[in-house]
Amino acid sequence: MDASHSDVLILGGGVVGLSCALHLLKGGASVRVLEQGTPGCGSSHGNCGTITPSHAAPLAMPGMLGVALRSMLRADAPLYLNPRFDGPRLRWLLGFARHCNWRDFQHAAQARSAILQRSRRLLGDLIRDEQLDCEFVESDGLLYVYRSTSKLADDERHHAELLDRFGVPVERLSGEQVEAMEPALKPGVKGGLFHPEDARLRPDRYVAELARLVRERGGVIEIGARVEGFKTNEHRIDQVNTTRGDFTGDRVLMALGAWSPLLGQRLGLRLPMQPGKGYSLTYTRPTRVPRRALVLREAAVCVTTWESGFRLGSTMEFSGYAEGLNRTRLDALRRGAAEGLREPEGPQLQEEWWGWRPMSVDEVPIIGPSTRWSNLHLATGHGMLGVSMSAATGELVAAQLSGKTPAFDPAPYAPARFGL
Ligand SMILES: Cc1cc2nc3c(=O)[nH]c(=O)nc-3n(C[C@H](O)[C@H](O)[C@H](O)COP(=O)(O)OP(=O)(O)OC[C@H]3O[C@@H](n4cnc5c(N)ncnc54)[C@H](O)[C@@H]3O)c2cc1C
Repeated sequence: MDASHSDVLILGGGVVGLSCALHLLKGGASVRVLEQGTPGCGSSHGNCGTITPSHAAPLAMPGMLGVALRSMLRADAPLYLNPRFDGPRLRWLLGFARHCNWRDFQHAAQARSAILQRSRRLLGDLIRDEQLDCEFVESDGLLYVYRSTSKLADDERHHAELLDRFGVPVERLSGEQVEAMEPALKPGVKGGLFHPEDARLRPDRYVAELARLVRERGGVIEIGARVEGFKTNEHRIDQVNTTRGDFTGDRVLMALGAWSPLLGQRLGLRLPMQPGKGYSLTYTRPTRVPRRALVLREAAVCVTTWESGFRLGSTMEFSGYAEGLNRTRLDALRRGAAEGLREPEGPQLQEEWWGWRPMSVDEVPIIGPSTRWSNLHLATGHGMLGVSMSAATGELVAAQLSGKTPAFDPAPYAPARFGL
């Protein structure tokens, strides 16, 4: 067989592509990952590293469109819509607006919860069985912290009650209980929601460990191989063309995160996705660090502590494919942390980072076979939850490509819902 041929060619070496590679290798397939940079250099690098069965609720709900539209006037709003629209972003916003109703909210939440819960179990098992060195902590959970009773009441209705229904544990706490649990918080906490089954890890290390496992099991990762085009034949992709040569595969898996629509276009696929830009600041550890991962809900700042550091992250900005750091938004992260934490920053700033979340219009990932191309599979659109959902995505893709029955119902994730 030609050395440039594999059973499965995986486009994109982020946490999703690598997790799929690992599961496919376990099933006996040969895989080659084509990555334009280095493994995990995209959104998988500087994210908050929380593993969150708690995050079943999507953003889209009644009232959210107004929040998004008003944000156009505030460049430091946690959810920010840049008012300079292009065609694809406007289409995405209109699609998002259509999902801002309770029926779609429930539908998306159910789909997200199923894959999140499965993935949480698989991810813990993988890290323990393979002894992955990624600062995984599963004993401390994740704590939502509230300084306003109105936000707490909203979340009680649309977040906690939802989790109760899905069987995901959530504990309601008073302000005093939260402050006693986390002395790193400033006083004035009005209440908390604690998610004991959430976990955390250092995402860059997790991805590095996945890449190591993939290579150890015989997978090939082509670094610096930017996919530029395809050679196709009616309904099949015959060849993938990259800056490092041409490759063939019986199957092609698109796991390009936020870049997926750009390459999808070359295959005539209009993926309903936009990059949702987020930022993070990583420091050496302050003396008074929170023990648990925290979300400071009003400021929408996520705080993650590891042995090796301390990260403030989040914010969601829709500015198309605009690259680079934005000071206004980094300062908003700092201010948000300072409102909630006694020591909001560590002694040394190690990294300022931005990344593009692959936001699908219905906030449910797009996983499964393409209806247009007979040998194309998709694993993209994981939005704010790609690390959390990565293990079950890999398992699902491997089952689908080998004709096995998936461990959970794949229908809600099917690309066919968008005619892809
Ligand atoms: C601030 C922030 C905080 C977050 N926090 C969390 C969290 O706490 N928990 C969680 O679960 N998720 C979190 N996320 C979301 C998570 O980071 C993403 O959902 C996840 O990383 C997506 O993984 P991916 O593999 O699909 O995409 P990526 O990691 O972006 O991978 C796509 C890869 O494709 C490559 N690529 C692109 N174009 C080409 C091309 N033409 N040829 C070859 N390769 C190409 C890129 O270089 C990249 O490596 C956060 C995101 C942000 C921005």
